[in-house]
This record gives sequence, structure tokens and C-alpha cells, in this order.
Amino acid sequence: MSPPAGPLAGKVVLITGASSGIGAAAAAVFARHGATVVLAARRADRLRELARAVRRTGAEASYSVADVRCTEQARRAVQDAVGRHGRLDAAFNNAGAGVPKRPLHLLDDAAYDLVMETNVRGVWNCMRHEITAMLAGGGGAIVNTSSVGGLVASSAAAPYIASKHAVIGLTKAAAVEYAAHHIRVNAIAPGLTRSEMVDEWFATSPDAGEKAYRSLPQQRAADPEEVAETAAWLCSDRASFVTGATLAVDGGRTAW
Ligand code: NAP
Repeated sequence: MSPPAGPLAGKVVLITGASSGIGAAAAAVFARHGATVVLAARRADRLRELARAVRRTGAEASYSVADVRCTEQARRAVQDAVGRHGRLDAAFNNAGAGVPKRPLHLLDDAAYDLVMETNVRGVWNCMRHEITAMLAGGGGAIVNTSSVGGLVASSAAAPYIASKHAVIGLTKAAAVEYAAHHIRVNAIAPGLTRSEMVDEWFATSPDAGEKAYRSLPQQRAADPEEVAETAAWLCSDRASFVTGATLAVDGGRTAW
């Protein structure tokens, strides 16, 4: 089977948080658009299965087990991409964690630490090593997953909201710093998207999920593929003059 052509043809892309939800959808979408994908997360069994499924479509795929909270593991994932495929052209830093839906004063330090370590330090760890590899390769594109919670607040998720605002700050800073080095850095801000994270939020009250979806402008949650398509476009050369931007993929939620 010949490898697929497309806007990401010939590009080597690292995708974190690839074992489920938006990241797993991105593995398929990026590969369909021609990329060689390196899938990273902590659950090896899922990554192995997903890489196999992608290879069955004719695309190239490998995986690296990595906890993005650890700089050494982030470095190794980048090194695996470069070592196996020769370079790193793009990265989708999508790994993320949520907090239980609770008022700020009822959340504990562990919830705060988990989202800050995963969502902020994780993006920091990955970007540092990705930028090093991209500088060596002459350029690249990075997309970080923020959230509508990085643009506007909602109740009962304060540390998550803070972490996703920080992702946008890191994105803008890196975009400005590396624009002259041909590295573009953007963020996406998904609205409610069907995934394990959202299933967990609504686990205690299944009706709450459907009610929340119906209250949105499009009266539905996003499919993970719709979010992944936006990240793929930002990683492609079709977005060559887009850097430092945060693109809402929220069905109109933040336009309200
Ligand atoms: P998900 O299905 O729970 O996916 C989260 C992914 O992150 C999993 O692949 C998980 O894999 C990985 N991950 C978590 N902690 C990690 C760590 N320490 N190191 C490496 N990987 C880690 O949820 P999702 O909705 O697709 O979330 C993807 C991103 O979208 C997150 O950044 C989330 O904040 C953001 N987001 C989601 C929504 C939504 O409504 N779903 C809205 C806005 C933003 P392992 O457990 O295997 O490590």
C-alpha cells in the first residue's frame, strides 16, 4: 500500500495524549493527511494498538511511552521521533488532565498539582525538547491543546481554567521567540468534545452531559476528529502565516 498523500505528506509529527480522545483521533487524521506519526502517552497497550491500526492504512506510525510531567520522558519521546524517522517537523502537545467538578475551596492541592504538572509543565517539557529538535532541522510547527477554559472561565474547575490560560501564555511566548527561526506555535481551544475526560466529568450525573451539550450554540459536543482536523491544519504549511494564535474549536461557545 502506498503512503497517503496530503497536506502533511512527508512530515514527522509527535502527538501526545494519543492513547484516547482527541489525541487518538489525531493519530488517524494526521496519518490520513500524509504524516508519519509518533504517538505518546502512558498507556502502552493502547498506543501499540493504535500504531498498528494506523500502519494498516499504509501510513508510518510508531509509539513512545511517556509521562509528559517528566522532562526526561518528554525528551525521549522527541528523541524517538528523530531517531526513528530522521527529524521532527511538527508536534501536537495534547496530553491533559482535568479536575473533579467542584468549587475552588473544596478542591485540594493534589487536584491543583495534577493539572499544573500535566497541562502546563507537560507542555513546557515537550516544547523545550521539540524546539531543540526543530531548530536543528530548520523549523517546524507546534500546536498546544488549551481549552475554551483557557479563554473564558466557568465554575467548578478553577485549577483547570488556570492551567489552560497558562498554555496560551506559553504558546504566545514561544511563537514570538521562535518566529524568526521558522517555528510556528499555536494553540487550539476546544469546547466540549466527546472523550474519556468528559465522560468522567458527567459520570455522576449522565443527564448533565446531554443538558450541557444542548445548551451550546450547535446543541452538541464536538467529535474528537473535528478538533484533530484543526490541529492538523495548523501543523500543515497551509497555515504558514499563522503563529501565536489560539483557535477556538467550540461550535460558537465563546462567541456567545
Ligand atoms: P482524554 O480522552 O482523557 O485524553 C487525555 C490524553 O492525555 C490521554 O491520551 C492520556 O493518556 C493523556 N495523558 C494524561 N496525562 C498524561 C501524562 N501525564 N503524560 C502523558 N499523557 C497523558 O481526553 P481528551 O478530551 O481527548 O483530552 C485531550 C486534551 O484536550 C486535553 O489537553 C484536554 O484538557 C483538552 N480538552 C478537552 C476538552 C473536552 O471537552 N474533551 C475540551 C477542551 C480541552 P494516558 O492516560 O495513556 O497517559
